[in-house]
Amino acid sequence: MTVLPESVTGPHGSTDAALRAVLADAARVVGADRVTHPGEEPDGAPVTPLGPNVSLYRSRTVHGVVRPQSADEVRRLVALFADGSTGARLHAFSTGGNWGLGSREPAADGAVVLDLSGLDQIRDIDVAQGWAVVEPGVTQARLATLLAGTERMLNVTVSSAHTSVVGNALDRGVGLRHQRVDDLMGLEVVLPDGETVRVGWWPEAARPTPVYPHGLGPSLVQLFVQSDLGVVTAATVRLLPRPEALRVVRLNFAPRDVEAATAEIRRWVAQGLARGVVKIYNEAAAAAYGGPAGQYLVHVCVDGTRESVAALTGVVTAEAERSGLFSAVSATDAEDPEADNHDVAVRVERAYAGDPDPSDALFEAKMGRPAVRLDEEGGFLFFLPLVPFTGAALARADALLEQVRVETGVRCGATLNALGADVVDCVVTMKFPRGGEEADNAHLALDRLYELFATEGFIPYRLDIEHTDWADRLAPDTGARAFARRLKDAVDPHRVIAPGRYA
Ligand SMILES: Cc1cc2nc3c(=O)[nH]c(=O)nc-3n(C[C@H](O)[C@H](O)[C@H](O)COP(=O)(O)OP(=O)(O)OC[C@H]3O[C@@H](n4cnc5c(N)ncnc54)[C@H](O)[C@@H]3O)c2cc1C
Repeated sequence: MTVLPESVTGPHGSTDAALRAVLADAARVVGADRVTHPGEEPDGAPVTPLGPNVSLYRSRTVHGVVRPQSADEVRRLVALFADGSTGARLHAFSTGGNWGLGSREPAADGAVVLDLSGLDQIRDIDVAQGWAVVEPGVTQARLATLLAGTERMLNVTVSSAHTSVVGNALDRGVGLRHQRVDDLMGLEVVLPDGETVRVGWWPEAARPTPVYPHGLGPSLVQLFVQSDLGVVTAATVRLLPRPEALRVVRLNFAPRDVEAATAEIRRWVAQGLARGVVKIYNEAAAAAYGGPAGQYLVHVCVDGTRESVAALTGVVTAEAERSGLFSAVSATDAEDPEADNHDVAVRVERAYAGDPDPSDALFEAKMGRPAVRLDEEGGFLFFLPLVPFTGAALARADALLEQVRVETGVRCGATLNALGADVVDCVVTMKFPRGGEEADNAHLALDRLYELFATEGFIPYRLDIEHTDWADRLAPDTGARAFARRLKDAVDPHRVIAPGRYA
C-alpha cells in the first residue's frame, strides 16, 4: 500500500487517497451511477448522502453510499475493503426502513454504506415445503403477493408493506405471528475477508431435506442477527401454513383495569386460545385502529378450520364477558359492513393472514404520511423493551410511561405484543413535529425511558443508534460480551464491517 503523508489521514486512520481509490474501484464494480458521494456545504462541511432521518438523530459522517445489484457485486465490494487499509467500515441496510431506531444511518461515524435494496430477487420458492430464498431488497408486499391464494403465508409486520423481510428479521423484528428470527432458516453471508458462506438450512437440488435451521454443531444463523460479522446477501425464509379460517376478536378495557385485564389475556394465551401475537394498544396507539377515547384496545387472533375458529371465537368472547373487565367485545366487525370499524377490522384480519396491504393504509393512518416521505417530513422515536407477561409488570410499565409524561410532557404510544405466555414486546412510540421543543422533549423522554425501564428490569431487545452503549450496560455477563468481541477480532481483524448498534 502507498504510504501517504499524515495530512491526508482521515477518520480511524484512513487515508483519503486510499478511500478515494477504493470508491473508484467500487464504482467500476457497480457502475458510477450507483455510488453517491457526500455533498458539501458552502463552508466545505460534508452533507450526508443518506438524507434526513425521521428521528432527527445526528447524521453520521458517511464517506459514500454504494448500491450493488447482486450478491456477487457485494462480495467484490467487501473484498475491496477487506485489507482494512481505507479505515472506512461497511454498514449494510436492506431497504433502510428502520424508522425510530436510525433509519439508514450507521451507528458510528466513518462508514461506507451498502444500500442492498437493489438485490431484489426471490431466487427460489417451494410452497409445498414452505420456504423461499429471498434477497435483502425483497419487500414483504412482494413475497406476500406471490403467496396470495396458496397454502402458505408470510409472517408480516405492521410496518410499511414495502420494508424488507430480511432487514427486519436481522434486527429481530416482530411480525403478527411471532418474532421474525424464528422464520430465518438460513443465511448467505459475505464475511469480512470477502468469502461467501451459507449457514443454516439451504435447499438441495437433488433431495428435499427438512427445513430446519440449526444443522449439526453450533447453530450459526443467529451469529449474523444484530451482528457486525458480515453482510447478508440472501436468506431462506420459512413460509407458514395458511389457516383455513381466521378471526380477530376486538376488545376494549379501561386504563384502571390494565393489571387485571392483561392478566386475564395472559391466561387465554397460556391456555392456547389465541394464535399469533395478541396486541394490546394503549389509548395513544389505539387511535389509528379506531379505538375509543380513553380505552385500551386488544386484538386477539384465532385461526384454524372454520369450526375451530367459530368455537374459539365463542370461547374468547365468553371468557371476556364473564371476566367483567372489558367494555366492548366484538368478533364481527370485519364481516359487518355497517360496523364502525369495518375497514380497519378487515385490514387487521388480512394482516394476520399474511397480507401486509401494499396500499399502506393503516401505516399512513398511524404516521400521517406515506413511508417514502417519512424520513424527510416526520418526527418519530421508538423504544422497545421486553416486559414479563404478568398483569403487575404491565401495570408497572404503564406507570413508567405516565412518569415520563409527567416529567417531559411526552405522551407515548404503547403497543404490547405478546410473544407467548411469558414475554411482551412493549413497543413505545413517540411522534412529534420536526424541530423545536417537542422534538427535544421526545429525545429527553427516550433517555428517561431507557433509564426507568432498565432499572425495573424491562430491558430493550433492539437499540437505536444513539443508545448503543446500553448493549454493554445491560449485559448480564461481561464475559459473554468479551467473548463476542473475541469472535469479532477473529472474524474481522481489520474492522471491515462497521460496529452496529449492538457492538
Ligand atoms: C408505523 C410503524 C410500524 C412498525 N411496525 C413494526 C412491526 O410491526 N415490527 C417490527 O419489527 N418493526 C416495525 N417497525 C419498525 C421498522 O419499520 C421495521 O422493523 C422495518 O422492517 C425495518 O426496516 P427494513 O426492513 O428496511 O430494515 P433495514 O432498515 O434495511 O435493516 C434493519 C437493520 O438490520 C441490519 N441489516 C439490514 N440488512 C442487512 C444486511 N443485508 N446485512 C447485514 N445487516 C443488515 C442493519 O443494522 C439495519 O440497520 C415499524 C415502524 C413504524 C414507523
